[in-house]
Amino acid sequence: MATLLQEILTNNYEFLANNKCTKEISKYPQKKFALLTCMDTRLVELINKALGIHRGDAKIIQNAGTSLIGEMGETVKSLLLTIYVFDIKEIFIVGHYDCGVALTSSKDILHNMRSRGVSEQQLKLIEKDFQVWLDPYTDPAKNVLTVIKKLKANPFIPNDIPIHGLIIDPHTGKLDLLADGYKEI
Ligand SMILES: [Zn+2]
Repeated sequence: MATLLQEILTNNYEFLANNKCTKEISKYPQKKFALLTCMDTRLVELINKALGIHRGDAKIIQNAGTSLIGEMGETVKSLLLTIYVFDIKEIFIVGHYDCGVALTSSKDILHNMRSRGVSEQQLKLIEKDFQVWLDPYTDPAKNVLTVIKKLKANPFIPNDIPIHGLIIDPHTGKLDLLADGYKEI
């Protein structure tokens, strides 16, 4: 039986044989927006289709829980890169209902790490980080608004960048608007 790696390599071989991808697409997003969303498996393909995003349109940042921790964490730095290097003009924060991150806690993950042999000494070093990240996050819609609030308070995000907040149904792709960024400009 083929391993997953073999399957992926075979898929790629077949993809290349069937897709003559000759058209060069710019790394600068044509629709000049950045999208921050979750890594949820159900959003694969769905979010692009549901929002009408095509190759070359946008910068898409995905992480666990559409989260944004720390004023200068990786997510913020990625967004700053999209603004100051890739010329994006708007930001979309798109959470989703039934987010697995909202259903987990620092206790759960630390427990599982302990079961897999991570030492108490090591766990102590990261415990606080995981508490700050996971434990306040129980409501995906509220999280979207919190992320927007944090970005608006960030002195490096220009005031003229609209930051929109939405939440998507991971089954149907239906979007609900939580915050219209144009109204805040
Ligand atoms: Zn999620």
